[in-house]
Amino acid sequence: MNKTLKLLYYSVFLASLSGLIYYGHHLQNTKTPGLEILEQEPVSELSLEEAFPYVIEPRSTLSSSLTELGVSPQVIQEIVTAAKPIENLARIRPGIRFQIFKDETSEIQGIEFRFSAVERLSVKKISGTWSADKIKEQVDIQVVTFSGIVNMSLWESALNAKMDPNLISELADIFAWEVDFAREVRVNDRWRLTVEQKLVKGEPIGWGSILAAEYENAGTSYKAVLFRNNGEEIGYFTPDGASLRKMFLRSPIRYGRITSRFSTRRFHPILKIRRPHLGVDYGAPIGTPIRTVGDGTVIFAKYNGGGGNVVRIRHNSMYETVYKHLHGFAKGVRSGTKVKQGQIIGYVGNTGLSTGPHLHFEFYNSGRYVDPLTKKFPTAEPVAPHLLTQFKAEAAILLTGLPGWDSLQAANKTSSDSSMN
Ligand SMILES: [Zn+2]
Repeated sequence: MNKTLKLLYYSVFLASLSGLIYYGHHLQNTKTPGLEILEQEPVSELSLEEAFPYVIEPRSTLSSSLTELGVSPQVIQEIVTAAKPIENLARIRPGIRFQIFKDETSEIQGIEFRFSAVERLSVKKISGTWSADKIKEQVDIQVVTFSGIVNMSLWESALNAKMDPNLISELADIFAWEVDFAREVRVNDRWRLTVEQKLVKGEPIGWGSILAAEYENAGTSYKAVLFRNNGEEIGYFTPDGASLRKMFLRSPIRYGRITSRFSTRRFHPILKIRRPHLGVDYGAPIGTPIRTVGDGTVIFAKYNGGGGNVVRIRHNSMYETVYKHLHGFAKGVRSGTKVKQGQIIGYVGNTGLSTGPHLHFEFYNSGRYVDPLTKKFPTAEPVAPHLLTQFKAEAAILLTGLPGWDSLQAANKTSSDSSMN
């Protein structure tokens, strides 16, 4: 790819993030159950800056902003009072845009604040009295499709497809149990997806859910379909209704007692200081078996200072778990060992910085500590039997709506042609 083209992709990417560019050629009015393609209203000709020319500047208030525009303190007070039941304008955030309406005598008659693409507040003077109204824009949903092929990276394939890369991260999350996207992405892997796009007055304002997706990894195809029942998102499933998730075991110890919970601040019994406890402690006798809470690969199994004997397991590109203070490791557990959910990886001990026999268990989501006791993991149950017929019918339609691979190859050819210019 030449420099100009790269720059073009970058600017298109930026524009797509700010919602300014509308990819007409990617739009597809796929008919899907429960989805209606709404008629679009004509697009407003005014830009955001034209429609809402004023902005609450950093370190200023509504009062100071309006005073600068020549509005009297009394009128400012009337506006704030009228809006109070709906919005406290005395605490309005910097960055909020607004417009004002004046009569022939330059007297202010109305003011409108734009809180977001979908929400405005209008304060108007009607027959001498100020009153306020919250205005919610109607959000329309349209269905859009994208497809891509990996040349260098998954990210780059999204940019080449002129797709918001946030959507490729979502696709990677959906298939996180099937493909390790940090390690197993191959050149010529391809993907395609159908996603909801939110519009206000015909302008894209953001994305809804991915409805269906396929990822082809080293020739093996993985498919996912979103299942909704009565408006509730149940989760992503394979076309035959199996879950794409593998739930974690609730506990790495079968009969352990929780002796210390996850906390961002606690008194450390040995160090005698307050510091976060970013894991869960299970009290259990020395030698109690410890199980891995999910399938994965051991990436660390050795003595490590305060942690004593430590095992770290990578479950997929998102999740890792760590087990500390072990008395010893299970046979064959070393760096690189593949383990199955529930497999014994070691035994409870008192090694490292520990006041008594216990397991210190840590859970990481994308490199960050999370509390495994409160984090809600997506369901791992298949589609409920009584909903399976409904699901399969919807899935078939959604999968048919995915874009063809042909268009993808054609698009790729075009981009390589243009880079030779
Ligand atoms: Zn602990």
